[in-house]
Amino acid sequence: MKNSRILYIFGACAGLAVLAFILLTTNAAILVNWTIERGVQGGVASQDISPTRFELIFCGTGTPQFFPDRSQPCLGVIAAGKFFLFDAGQNASRQLNATASPFTKLETVFLTHLHSDHMSGVADVLHSSWLMGRQHDVSVVGPPGTQQLLDGIHQGYSNDIEERQRVLGVEYLETTVKLGQAREVIIDNEEAVVVYDADGLVVEAFRVDHPDWPYAYGYRITFGGKTVVVSGDTKYTPAIANHAQGTDMLIHEAVNLDMMEQIASALREFGGPVDPDRLALISAVHTPTLEVARVAKEANVETLVLTHLIPPIPANFVAEQHYSSGMDEIFQGELVMARDGLHITLIE
Ligand SMILES: [Zn+2]
Ligand SMILES: [Zn+2]
Repeated sequence: MKNSRILYIFGACAGLAVLAFILLTTNAAILVNWTIERGVQGGVASQDISPTRFELIFCGTGTPQFFPDRSQPCLGVIAAGKFFLFDAGQNASRQLNATASPFTKLETVFLTHLHSDHMSGVADVLHSSWLMGRQHDVSVVGPPGTQQLLDGIHQGYSNDIEERQRVLGVEYLETTVKLGQAREVIIDNEEAVVVYDADGLVVEAFRVDHPDWPYAYGYRITFGGKTVVVSGDTKYTPAIANHAQGTDMLIHEAVNLDMMEQIASALREFGGPVDPDRLALISAVHTPTLEVARVAKEANVETLVLTHLIPPIPANFVAEQHYSSGMDEIFQGELVMARDGLHITLIE
């Protein structure tokens, strides 16, 4: 009796599987067409932004080290009906696509400094947004060296641009070269400098301390009565608390010293291509987790978001709790551990 029931269930499942297979194969064209249409519809819809919206998209929360859960640093900002990027490391374009970011509305890329993990995706972001339909010029604001970066991108991509313009001949491809214009900013004191001011959005740059870069910047973004501060890469500096004082959100880089020491001792034990002593040099130019908590407390911010996690850790609760342990004893506000793909909406 029992065996016949099992046979009956097995037979029914096999029948359903055969039926599903037949339906799928005979209607494959319908399914493919539906998928393509929904994809295009979703892509078009994601490029539509309300002019009052203020939203952050974490398109990279990692470091130069390749890590499956975390791409190199990248922060997208939707404000004033436009789209902005603060750094664009490797994988930025892919992450912007995955997070349905409105990259054809890309207006300006702000660079904190010129370490590779903060700019290795810039060329692709500029080129892809242009190829996908951006019809306006874009600026790349950054420290001295930004012009050199853009010159290299223009030079390296010139054959591609020429060929696409000639062969595709679409109007938006025939206008002026769309690979971005550099705008270098030199700040030699502790003051914040306005680097963007339009349609109610104000972006200010200020100096941070990221040895051995003579110019490394943090950014302060104000829109619709809300202010967010981005630390960029920095070791502890009072500049962050000064410029983030009383703001809504501080997005800060961090290094977990205990984990870095564990990695160094493992490298000493097992060997490897990286010199274990180099890890202490890396830690020295970033801000340890407990000092980040102190900065957030000094700045009296409502929310602290940790990003650029050194070392990169898996995007799960246990790893993040371990990484941030002890911080809540210093900073009593809200602590958010950023993950790739995290969206934070400040104004709907
Ligand atoms: Zn750096
Ligand atoms: Zn970095």
